[in-house]
Amino acid sequence: MDSKFLKIRNDFPILNQKINNERLVYLDNAATSQKPQAVIDEIVRYYQNDNANTHRSVHTLGERATEEYEAARGKVQRFINAKESREIIFTQGTTDSLNLVASTYGEENISAGDEIVVSYMEHHSNLIPWQQLALRKHAILKYIELTNDGRLDMDDAQKKITDKTKVVAIAHVSNVLGVTNDIKKMAQIAHIHNAVMVIDGAQAVPNQPVDVQALDADFYAFSGHKMLGPMGIGVLYGKNNLLNKMSPYQYGGEMINFVEKYQSTWADIPWKFEAGTQNVAGAIGLGKAIDYLTEIGMQNIANYEQKLVEYALPKLLNIPEITVYGPHSPKLHNGVISFNLKGLHPHDLATALDMDGVAVRAGHHCAQPLMKYLNVVATARASFYIYNTVDDVDQLIYAIQDAKEFFK
Ligand code: PLP
Repeated sequence: MDSKFLKIRNDFPILNQKINNERLVYLDNAATSQKPQAVIDEIVRYYQNDNANTHRSVHTLGERATEEYEAARGKVQRFINAKESREIIFTQGTTDSLNLVASTYGEENISAGDEIVVSYMEHHSNLIPWQQLALRKHAILKYIELTNDGRLDMDDAQKKITDKTKVVAIAHVSNVLGVTNDIKKMAQIAHIHNAVMVIDGAQAVPNQPVDVQALDADFYAFSGHKMLGPMGIGVLYGKNNLLNKMSPYQYGGEMINFVEKYQSTWADIPWKFEAGTQNVAGAIGLGKAIDYLTEIGMQNIANYEQKLVEYALPKLLNIPEITVYGPHSPKLHNGVISFNLKGLHPHDLATALDMDGVAVRAGHHCAQPLMKYLNVVATARASFYIYNTVDDVDQLIYAIQDAKEFFK
């Protein structure tokens, strides 16, 4: 294992504690990541030195806050290789970004009989906005099937996406099955039929290099808090020709050009979509998180997490009472493994693991149609990030064996 990664844990103050007298092993990274001292310090620095409202004041603090906020936008642009910084809209997170697209682009471009294509592995954030839009518009929601080992069935995608399709909305990486979907190919299929490709990148951007131009994404959504940044800040990338044509999502301060008594005109993108006071500290904190991740290198991060999965997956599969959902080949897994222990509800398993200091998520992971598809009510989920090590995996396996004994 890369020695650089073994030291990373020291940058995260929260990890330096015991839970139930055991070393904390945080394996709930797909829910949210922990924050390095550098990000915490940056948020404190901003509030101690530069806090003011952006785009409003000509005083020094106002100018500093605006400059730092817009610099953070530039960092996001470079991080995902968007062509222009005005294609980066700050939102509250992935959920907010996807609701924005459904409520603006979707509302304006979907009519009765049109088709919206999603998959069975979507998080509710990339499902319910489309489901509700389809209901409002009398449009048809179609689901791409999964293969037996939990990957997107690309043959079915070819069949489901047709000239009637207006939107294809798919996760880049599944938060349950850990698979990385071939969304570049999916975007090609969507574009052949003149549909737009909306990508839920919540689980991809934190863990692998993402290039929105290479993917030919029309819209790409992700959250700051899953990639070392603060909660309440997220990103919507959109191609400028699409964003320019869309109506605002919300109305209020700072998103206008002129306001008259009975009509108004809108600011240019991206500000047209950023009504009201924004989460400036959040954007600046996200910018710092991007600096931190860039310093390590996104490809190095992807490779490291791959090694952790290569170490963990065979150990889990070796426990006869464990069922792993999704592919059993580590190569097909991002750093997310969902599993169940025979005879134990995942909530009881997660509670037992917590007794040994191990934090995993248990539940439906905001993916109820997928749970139904897998024929389970819930799963336990271990998800890795840069500060996890093989020792963490060993502690997880030990804790599972412990739970097995306890509930025997
Ligand atoms: N999409 C996926 C794949 C996710 O894993 C999550 C979060 O768990 C979301 C969307 C929603 O992200 P947020 O709650 O930050 O809006």
